Amino acid sequence: REGRRPLIAGNWKMHMTHLEAIGLVQKLVFSLTEKQLDDAEVVVLPPFTALRSVQTLVTGDQLAVGYGAQDLSAHDSGAYTGEVSGAMLSALACGFVVVGHSERRALHGEDDAEVAAKVQAALRHGLTPILCVGEGLDVRRAGGHVAHCTAQLDAALEGVPAEQVERIVLAYEPVWAIGTGEVATPEDAQEVCGALRSRLAQRFSPATAAVVRILYGGSVKSASTAGILAGPDVDGALVGGASLDADEFAQICRIAA
Ligand code: PEP
Repeated sequence: REGRRPLIAGNWKMHMTHLEAIGLVQKLVFSLTEKQLDDAEVVVLPPFTALRSVQTLVTGDQLAVGYGAQDLSAHDSGAYTGEVSGAMLSALACGFVVVGHSERRALHGEDDAEVAAKVQAALRHGLTPILCVGEGLDVRRAGGHVAHCTAQLDAALEGVPAEQVERIVLAYEPVWAIGTGEVATPEDAQEVCGALRSRLAQRFSPATAAVVRILYGGSVKSASTAGILAGPDVDGALVGGASLDADEFAQICRIAA
């Protein structure tokens, strides 16, 4: 995959208290060798309430695991009760933040404009957005998945300067595969990841497209990892359910390394 370092990110969703998070991260890290953690980038995405605890575990670089949040506000500060800003995440030394997850789009009404504003907020605060795109089952059945995902990508990158695009990580997450146990085939994953990369090449440059990492997400387990990662444009995985089990997640990371 042209020198792109594989990235495995665990989206814990609304699971794990900060105490449980400490146990999970410790177990994960001690299951992986230094070499594996070097060969693949491993990132955990706990709920906001566990970020500080995870930070205290991984700071000092003894444990080479990255971490980040599952969402952020498009605003930098102000009267936005319940929201968390990019500045706050950056102060916790988060490296990553998920933007535009399908659960946020569907359950919290996030539209393309809000997703685009959040991508910019993340970049403004030095965070790497993990920008999620993906089609629902109706779109997939009608054969519109590539057009749908490239349109979501275009909308989310509206106004992002070309030189910043390289900092973004994309995640192709077909909605019908998330939390359903129905993983996409390696061909399905490659088709859309490849199309997203071509779109970046067309809109920005081939050089930019060549460095952006594109993940697949949707019911990834250790048994399906090798097949999914075989696609030349699939640079890693965004893992939900399977990231809550340290042994299973570590196995996925080993396969990617
Ligand atoms: C996700 O929530 O990003 C995800 C991919 O979930 P799961 O692996 O459980 O399908």
